[in-house]
Amino acid sequence: MAKQKKIKVDKEQVRQRIKKIWPLLKKAYPDAKIALKFVNPLELLISTILSAQCTDVRVNMVTDDLFKKYRKATDWAEADLKEIEEAVRSTGFFRNKALNIKGACTRIVEHYDGKVPDTMEELLTLPGVGRKTANCVLGDAFGIPGITCDTHVIRLSGRLGLSENSDPVKLEFDLAEIVPKANWTRFSHLLIHHGRNICKARKPDCENCPLAKHCPAAKNEQLWLR
Ligand code: SF4
Repeated sequence: MAKQKKIKVDKEQVRQRIKKIWPLLKKAYPDAKIALKFVNPLELLISTILSAQCTDVRVNMVTDDLFKKYRKATDWAEADLKEIEEAVRSTGFFRNKALNIKGACTRIVEHYDGKVPDTMEELLTLPGVGRKTANCVLGDAFGIPGITCDTHVIRLSGRLGLSENSDPVKLEFDLAEIVPKANWTRFSHLLIHHGRNICKARKPDCENCPLAKHCPAAKNEQLWLR
């Protein structure tokens, strides 16, 4: 893999940059929201576990049927592991995912009265749940601000010079310092949409990017690398 070009980040400059790109992103993606389909925190938790290394479209296809069969945490906790494995096979890494889903739901039943907890600390006690999944559940199911550092947020934060860090946890804390808390969830969705539509991994479309004027990577291809 090509060596990543390190950028120097001045937090005050970054705050100013975010103030400029925020309205542009909102204008470009007024309806940006999570692409996973869910109707309650449990469904979002399971969909997010399934979305690792899998497209949201595929996850939605799989959960369409699954969520009719397994409705509560107890249903998953009591289900046969092999059956869950078969049901989620097409999302990849199905053995781990099935084990984590069953494990997380068992813990939810045993420790949280069958309800998905709504704090970062508690969510992190569930098997298969890291900060990315927890922030996603907090932000989108509970309306508690969370920054979801997925592959798009990591890549775009580097290109836009928002952080020197590509480690998702360090990046999350960096962004939390410079993005107003009320905007954390929306900011994540906007970057994810921009990453999917314009600032793609292999070839960002800088010529048609509304952020180009404010983006250090627009004229410096070395900054595309991460
Ligand atoms: S200018 Fe290019 S690198 Fe910067 S955000 Fe836009 S598409 Fe991405």
